[in-house]
Amino acid sequence: MIVLHGVAAGKGIAVGRAHLVVRGVSEVPQHDIAEEDLADEVERFETAVKTTRRQLEQLRSAIPENAPTELGAFISLHLMLLADVTLSREPIDIVYEQHINAEWALKIQTDRLSEQFDAMEDEYLRERKQDMLQVVERLQRNLIGQSTELNLDANLLDDTILIAHDLSPADTVYFKDQRIEGFVTDTGGAVSHTAILGRSLNIPSVIGLGNARKLISEHEWVIVDGISGILIIEPDDLILAEYRKLQRAYRSRQRELNKLKKTAATTEDGEEIELLANIESAEDVKALHGSGADGVGLLRSEYLFLNRDNPPDEEEQYQFYSDIVKKLKGKPLTIRTIDLGVDKNPRWFGHNGTPNAALNPALGLTGIRLSHAEPVMFRTQMCAVLRAAVHGPVRMMWPMVASVSELKQCIVHLEAARRQLSERGETFGDVEIGCMIEIPSAALTVSTVLKYVDFISIGTNDLIQYTLSVDRSDDSVSYLYQPAHPAVIRLLAHIIRTANRIGKSVSVCGEMAGDTDYTRLLLGLGLRTFSMNTANLLAVKDVVIHSNTEELESEMAKITRNEDPDKAEGLLKKLNAV
Ligand code: PEP
Ligand code: MG
Repeated sequence: MIVLHGVAAGKGIAVGRAHLVVRGVSEVPQHDIAEEDLADEVERFETAVKTTRRQLEQLRSAIPENAPTELGAFISLHLMLLADVTLSREPIDIVYEQHINAEWALKIQTDRLSEQFDAMEDEYLRERKQDMLQVVERLQRNLIGQSTELNLDANLLDDTILIAHDLSPADTVYFKDQRIEGFVTDTGGAVSHTAILGRSLNIPSVIGLGNARKLISEHEWVIVDGISGILIIEPDDLILAEYRKLQRAYRSRQRELNKLKKTAATTEDGEEIELLANIESAEDVKALHGSGADGVGLLRSEYLFLNRDNPPDEEEQYQFYSDIVKKLKGKPLTIRTIDLGVDKNPRWFGHNGTPNAALNPALGLTGIRLSHAEPVMFRTQMCAVLRAAVHGPVRMMWPMVASVSELKQCIVHLEAARRQLSERGETFGDVEIGCMIEIPSAALTVSTVLKYVDFISIGTNDLIQYTLSVDRSDDSVSYLYQPAHPAVIRLLAHIIRTANRIGKSVSVCGEMAGDTDYTRLLLGLGLRTFSMNTANLLAVKDVVIHSNTEELESEMAKITRNEDPDKAEGLLKKLNAV
């Protein structure tokens, strides 16, 4: 039995059999290259070859002492194959001859080489085909960037627990169509999008486990404890029995919470709290109604743009949004315009300097910057949102705004989108406009931001990342990711107080809103609207109805005056015990 500690993502406990996720390049892009761009394309290929070589060399130098001796020889063989003209030079000739992209040229060359290997008489040499394919796969992955996707076995068992080194948000959305008991990953932080999806899918999951993938064999029994962030490999009978008990206790607590569905989220002193849901698609609306949420505080619309070859056009987007609006039956829908870049990069996205190729993608072309760089795409989305607003209350929210100049630009686009629809004779509705406050510069200038919008929503996931300079997805620094850090609390206090003073609506839609450890803190700071994944909503409601905001507010001075991060947790614990 082996016990590994990671970060709890999706709550609950899963017991099942391991399925190791093997990555493959699912689809190779194919397009023509103009004569004047051929040299750039070849340079891209050469860079990918260099990256692949570097990766293999690093792998060879990091082989553990107890690893089989042939491992080093295998990697050397891969390096040799990579250096051979058939892989490093001939695809370039194909690019020049056929005016096609490097990935497709590599595919053509791979098919040729495969045929040659198959025709070999010597069995040993014939078997080297597999090595060649592995090298090509790595090379293709480096060419394509992060947009390689998960290839899940269609015949997964019912009690499957996926074990992956790494899962992208795009991978995780596939789980919606699969029956998966739980998943674990070697990489990832508590508020990475992979973790957020694990939570919203309500699948027990633990991430940031380090080396789990290497320690587990296919079909081995594992326990995923998504409450404490633990993975147990080959549990003994005693542990298994203990976990079955915990699983029952967790389910019975969920049943208790379910009784709160129709209870109003009103505090002991009569403050009415609005509890909204974060969703990704129309399928999530059922769970939203099941949780008794008051509406949608955050639709992460970018998920509609992932895992496909082309972006959705206006009509498809209109159908997608209006389907959700109708299903919400009068409850409000907040549509966040696409927040792509960093870890969410659609494969069709061919903008110059693809965001994930940047050295610091989180500081690069992402969120609203990306939408401004792609005005046609942005306006198309705006038109679809405006049209969907005919069917019910819709709010449009812009992500990652750093300063008011970006907001003003959004408003110009919105006016243009309205004009465009009028000229086409299309009917459209009214929308409230708002933005996320998730960059410290926007937080510190929030009173000016509020002049341009009807509402704001605090994205604590990014606000914490940028305030503390801690990558939200990097498990090696996750111990520094502190939502209760005094700097974060001060920013939250400032934003909420300013919005309340001006009389504009403010919510939190980051993970903090769905974490019961912070419910009382946020109530005390004056927050009255929380938006979270529906799986956490009833637990938050349970805290709300047992809280007194006046009492909490009187405790805030101590907390907001504190400047010592080491004291923050203690102060929070005391507050939660009030
Ligand atoms: C946030 O940053 O808190 C947020 C809600 O947006 P996302 O997690 O999608 O970046
Ligand atoms: Mg964000």
